[in-house]
Amino acid sequence: MSRVLVTGGAGYIGSATVALLLESGYEVTVLDDCSTGHADSVPEAATFFQGSLLDGNVVKMALQGCESVIHFAAKSLVGESVLKPDLYRTNNVIGSQILFDEMDGAGVSRIVFSSSAATYGDARVQPILETQKAEPTNPYGETKLAVDNLLTDLAAQESFAAISLRYFNVAGAITRDGKWLAERHSPETHLIPNLLKATPSNPLKIFGTDWDTKDGTCVRDYVHVKDLALAHMQALAALVPGVHEIINLGSGGGYSVREVIDTASAVVGYTIPTEETQRRDGDPATLIASITKAKELLGWEPTLNLESMISDTFESIQ
Ligand code: UDP
Repeated sequence: MSRVLVTGGAGYIGSATVALLLESGYEVTVLDDCSTGHADSVPEAATFFQGSLLDGNVVKMALQGCESVIHFAAKSLVGESVLKPDLYRTNNVIGSQILFDEMDGAGVSRIVFSSSAATYGDARVQPILETQKAEPTNPYGETKLAVDNLLTDLAAQESFAAISLRYFNVAGAITRDGKWLAERHSPETHLIPNLLKATPSNPLKIFGTDWDTKDGTCVRDYVHVKDLALAHMQALAALVPGVHEIINLGSGGGYSVREVIDTASAVVGYTIPTEETQRRDGDPATLIASITKAKELLGWEPTLNLESMISDTFESIQ
């Protein structure tokens, strides 16, 4: 089977996708600068280049022998992007442009891109359709939208076959070869890993209780990393030259921060300690995906629920 270059393949979602690609018989090359990823998450069966997308030479080497690219490598924290917008523009937009130029030079024109629901911003209509106007509320979402737009141009002008997968909130973990592939960020910012680490002296901070939602806390649509990784393989199979599709990946339903905390308390068997604090900059109130297009174009549907995402994350940190 053909070889796939996975940029960001040492990261949380990238490494889960690499594991499933290898199991499905693909050959895999990983390019990751390990700024947030971990070299020990890359299976030995993959060819590994530790380097940055900003270095065209390493990108050129990593592309050798590849027919397709799955592009995860990016800075991905909303809060950090508000504080360091230039870091996000350089890594996410310029890094992607260098990758696309090298792909063009090497005659590789098939790409699945890791986009984000953060491109939509404070969408008035929920669940969010892919046709909804993209109006990001933070630099992270702006950079993901900019790369989506580059791919639209490449499909039209260079006959690239491209799919942008707009993830909603990814959670959970998978085990491979006896070890967990889970989120390992430092500091961790995401809700589910954070609430599992909360203690009475270091409670989970709830970022705002005055949002215009059912209980005043933000509503998000959570999807298991294993389902997400599977969607990437289905997307590889669905690429069409000259076409750029944008496809949401979520569950089609939403949970408030309080509902996630209550579900987690039931899963772990104790009450998660919490503290109400101010809103976090850049957060929209509600993000819920319409996943009709994913079902129709990819034949994809999520199979694992919020309880599984929480219990797998819990197991991974024991
Ligand atoms: N959140 C929270 N406390 C935390 C981390 C997150 O209240 O310690 C909230 C956050 O404001 C958002 C939701 O949980 O409404 C999901 O945040 P996360 O950072 O996991 O993902 P994001 O929505 O930023 O992609």
